Amino acid sequence: MSSLIEIDSHDSLTGLLNRAGFHECSRKIMISGESGLSVVWFNLDNFKMFNKRFGFDKGDELLKEIALILNVIFSPEKYACNLTARFSDDNFVILTNWSSVEMDIDTVQEYLYSLHENVTLRLRAGIYFPSNDEDIRTSCDRAKLACDNIKKNHSVSSCMFHDDMSRDIALQQHILDSLDNAINNGHISVLYQPIIRVSTGKICEAEALARWNDPELGIISPAKFIPTLEKYREIHKLDVFAMKRVCVDYRKRSESDMPLLPVSVNISRLDFELCDIISEIENSISLNNIPREMMKIEITESVNDEDMTVLTLGIEKFRAMGYEVWMDDFGSGYSSLNVLKDYNFDTIKFDMKFLHGFNVHKSEKAKYIISSNLEMARLMGMQALAEGVETEEQFEYLRSIGFDKAQGYYFGKPMELDEIFSLKRGIETL
Ligand code: C2E
Ligand code: MG
Ligand code: MG
Repeated sequence: MSSLIEIDSHDSLTGLLNRAGFHECSRKIMISGESGLSVVWFNLDNFKMFNKRFGFDKGDELLKEIALILNVIFSPEKYACNLTARFSDDNFVILTNWSSVEMDIDTVQEYLYSLHENVTLRLRAGIYFPSNDEDIRTSCDRAKLACDNIKKNHSVSSCMFHDDMSRDIALQQHILDSLDNAINNGHISVLYQPIIRVSTGKICEAEALARWNDPELGIISPAKFIPTLEKYREIHKLDVFAMKRVCVDYRKRSESDMPLLPVSVNISRLDFELCDIISEIENSISLNNIPREMMKIEITESVNDEDMTVLTLGIEKFRAMGYEVWMDDFGSGYSSLNVLKDYNFDTIKFDMKFLHGFNVHKSEKAKYIISSNLEMARLMGMQALAEGVETEEQFEYLRSIGFDKAQGYYFGKPMELDEIFSLKRGIETL
């Protein structure tokens, strides 16, 4: 019987404690009144890729090496409270004394580097200091939140938990729980931002942007709800809803014989996996009598080799059917150039970072970067649109180098579709 308990509390691959064993031992230590405890959650960057590249056996070996390193650095001889555990996959958890925790994390990282000089392995660490009466599971969750928080920040290897992280989780949960209700009850709406043809200065298109006005929380920023919906693979619900709203707004104007504008809609690359986005759009535009050239498709790409085929096929299918496909936020991620190489777009939307703090007399480097990227777009036969134009000076510069289109607060913030048609600038006749 006692050996059964042994097996159940330990991880068979590494011999470290497992989740249940860790919880039990930690509780005992906390109840004993031991002070100055910290929980550390470790996760290895790109462990999936490591397994793919070197095979599962090597992956298992690596996990065992990490376990050994952790056992040496966090040995009970150093602090009696030290516990080492593997919860799952590449998730390791430690209970230790707080006094040297950051130094010890650095030492773990140095060991790992020295063992694998030819592969870059980063073991990210999230740190939480629990009080003795706190639930150990909550403490582990918080250490994990801190660890997840630096997933995209490669310049640091450890992070302490702070309260904002809990607030972020609560907001994410709210977003996920209330999405369907928000869609059905009008809490999500669509605004339109004008896009200007640089050569004429007139409005030639508009971009549809989703807005969420929550009855409990007020306005929720797209910077919060878009990444959450992508992370939890619910983004297609928003995208299909926004696209349908665009179609209805368009039809209303069209039925009243009012002037019309082509509209670009944002879709996530995940939409190609999560729903049949092409059929959704096709059905909706035909239901509302909208010609294909009146709807442009904006896609932001992020690095992910796995679904390249799905995206390539999706883009090609859209284009073959007569839709323009635009690459959104070019220059915002480090994969941008590869994305241009691998996919075919009709228009590149230059991210607003290019124009951030731009001054025509001082920003020499920015000018080189903008004009050479424009030249590249030209050579590849694509149109160039600059986002984030906020001043006349920026607009004049874009005109002087021959940008096709521009968008930004200088011309107008996102607004109701009808408002665009009363802007002084005027609409290009179709
Ligand atoms: P985006 O597609 O790059 O849209 C442009 C964003 O820049 C919008 O932010 C717009 O309000 C903002 N913007 C435009 N001009 C200026 C300017 O001159 N200065 C500054 N500082 N900002 C400007 P917003 O509406 O907050 O949207 C953020 C992002 O959320 C969008 O970036 C888009 O990627 C995403 N998004 C919005 N609606 C949808 C949607 O329905 N589906 C999907 N998948 N993504 C959406
Ligand atoms: Mg966009
Ligand atoms: Mg953009």
